[in-house]
Amino acid sequence: MSQSPSSHSGPDYFRATVASMQGYVPGEQPAADARVIKLNTNENPYPPSPRVRAAILEELGDTGERLRLYSDPAALRLRRAAAAHFGFALPQVLHGNGSDEVLALLFRAFVEPGERVMYPFPTYTLYETLAHATGALIDSVDFDASFRLPEALFGSTAKLVLIANPNAPSGNAHPISELARLAKSLRGGILVVDEAYAEFAPDNALELARTLPNVIVTRTFSKSHSLAGMRLGLLFGSEALVAGIQKVKDSYNLDRLAIVAGAVALEDHAWMRRNVEQVRATRIRLAERLTALGLSVLPSETNFLLVRFPGKQEAKGAYEFLKQRGILVRYFATRLLEDAIRISVGTDPEIDALLVELGHYLAA
Ligand SMILES: *Cc1c(COP(=O)(O)O)cnc(C)c1O
Repeated sequence: MSQSPSSHSGPDYFRATVASMQGYVPGEQPAADARVIKLNTNENPYPPSPRVRAAILEELGDTGERLRLYSDPAALRLRRAAAAHFGFALPQVLHGNGSDEVLALLFRAFVEPGERVMYPFPTYTLYETLAHATGALIDSVDFDASFRLPEALFGSTAKLVLIANPNAPSGNAHPISELARLAKSLRGGILVVDEAYAEFAPDNALELARTLPNVIVTRTFSKSHSLAGMRLGLLFGSEALVAGIQKVKDSYNLDRLAIVAGAVALEDHAWMRRNVEQVRATRIRLAERLTALGLSVLPSETNFLLVRFPGKQEAKGAYEFLKQRGILVRYFATRLLEDAIRISVGTDPEIDALLVELGHYLAA
């Protein structure tokens, strides 16, 4: 029998906001030796640049001697590579332990308990977790079936307005002109554009972070760069914003191996582009095949597809059927998503295996 947390913790040690909140629920991570086709957390199916492995081994050296010493709090090697690659000045770039840490830093830097944050629904659920942990008030506005930016976001007075672009789990991208209009409409708040999937999309909001005083763009190495396990993220914004956020960052948030891995991954841009193009090609083929199976597929500018079934029974059933056959996809038991599964784009053989099993499920 599972015990409620309170039976462990005794009296109310926790802040009220923490006691009452749900923790973030990540996608399942099976054991490394499990024989599953893993299409549930949008990891890249292809390995990172071989230069990443070489740089990590070089940093380790023969004895691991350098690990005695703390890593660079300024992560200069990584930030210099990022500044050069993305066309920013060094003081406009900050590094995080994954973009999840970058997002947490934004709450720490900008949001007092009781202040408002705003985002559309459904989107990346970590925003809600971070808002709860902060004790922030949440203005949430539903997307309609098109997943276009809801007009209710415009003119918001929230401290942070968070937009994943492209959005997860829908996969669609908003026009950058709409994001510019949103940033300019805000009354005293910052627009955070979470660009976890930007490399899969035709356009990005970096120019807004370069030119508008209230726009921050976040990036991750977890999807396009095949480095989810290294925990690497970046943030771009004005010098003034970055300087302030930097004050609340843990000094050694990136370890020595991650710093060199990230720098070298950016330098091998061609490797990342090749993988991204392969994933996009597979995604287009997957979307065609799913549509041919009679399912409804949202247009995606990412490495995943949101696939709708005739009803929630069928969607949940598909998730369970596939899981039994060793294929993990993501099912969200939440409002507006109960009739859908999200499929990460794997290798072509993985996607073929998925299509075979899904065909069996739909024929049953
Ligand atoms: C995967 C993802 C992230 C998290 O990236 P990490 O760098 O692995 O922490 C952030 N935002 C969105 C929308 C994501 O899908």
